[in-house]
Amino acid sequence: MTKSRDGEPTEALLLTPGPLTTTRATRHAMLRDWGSRDHDFIKLTARIRRRLAAIVGGRAGAKTCVPIQGSGTFAVEAALQTLIPRDGKLLILVNGAYGRRMAEICRVIGRAFEVLEWPDNQPVDGRRVAAALEADGAITDVAVVHVETTSGLLNPLADVADVVADAGRRLHIDAMSSFGAIGIDAETVPFTSLFASSNKCLEGVPGIGFVIADGTALERARGNAISLALDLEAQGRGFETNGQWRFTPPTHVLAALDAALDQFDAEGGVPGRFARYSRNCAVLCAGMRELGFTPWLEEGLQAPIIVTFRIPDGGWFRFGDFYDSLQRRGIVIYPGKLTVMDSFRIGCIGAVGEAEMRRALGVIGETVKAMGG
Ligand SMILES: *Cc1c(COP(=O)(O)O)cnc(C)c1O
Repeated sequence: MTKSRDGEPTEALLLTPGPLTTTRATRHAMLRDWGSRDHDFIKLTARIRRRLAAIVGGRAGAKTCVPIQGSGTFAVEAALQTLIPRDGKLLILVNGAYGRRMAEICRVIGRAFEVLEWPDNQPVDGRRVAAALEADGAITDVAVVHVETTSGLLNPLADVADVVADAGRRLHIDAMSSFGAIGIDAETVPFTSLFASSNKCLEGVPGIGFVIADGTALERARGNAISLALDLEAQGRGFETNGQWRFTPPTHVLAALDAALDQFDAEGGVPGRFARYSRNCAVLCAGMRELGFTPWLEEGLQAPIIVTFRIPDGGWFRFGDFYDSLQRRGIVIYPGKLTVMDSFRIGCIGAVGEAEMRRALGVIGETVKAMGG
């Protein structure tokens, strides 16, 4: 029987970019039905908004957290359409699929944008960003992906934030796969908005995205959104005025997130989670190397979130068979997302620790042997 880190039986270990393995305490929190206008539920929403905003620190009250129904992309789309002025222009730093997705969003919502691109295995570079901002005075905003989940690469967020602030522009951070595991301090990393979701490093269940935004920027964005449901300013104003969601809230998902945040605090917050995921990543990379698989990224660029491996040479390895065989034995991994080569990915996040990573490595080793590798 497969078990999560808390010893709870689970169908499978989800070693993916999310949804992830969760604990019993998190899943158990979903057993209560909530009325969305109940006093208790209003308090729950307020508590979660406070707890999420507190994770980035900063001056009391400077940042406000606005959750929104849906997956992470809903929060990205809500943030960009609400916060990029209609006559503004967004510079998007791209070294993977999630940067490209922000460009796609801007195309669909009709905001002017420009893309600055790097290969998927190279970090974005502050000097090129500085030059691009210098060259184009029309750019008002910049967007960067903190950990590019496409490859698992950690971008130099602090450098980019400094460059953007020095140039007097505003920064938006896709921190979807890093939030809660890799520290972002609003005191030292200036940003206008940051987006993440319930089901990655916070180890909640899927169903909520959220944006942590500069309160003043959000207030000033009134009327800027082009959609009703994804209007982040209206959603935020609703929370501030009567504490309620404008449309049916994912009540059970919120309750699970509150429980997941209790466990996050008990683990020591960001440093505790970073330590566990770093250990998971080290165990995974060492074990995979022993089995003949090479992590694709240079070690210094690898975030302890998800690891990309090359498909081995020799013709014996067929990803579909590999995936099915692991899945039958309770280990779920993820296909690659690179355009430059065939690859697959294994995540280090979720309610898993060293024991679960070793169990997965055992199953991978036996599968490789059976496949003739
Ligand atoms: C997961 C993720 C998203 C959002 O994806 P959804 O499938 O909409 O939850 C956005 N950006 C990054 C970097 C991600 O890892």
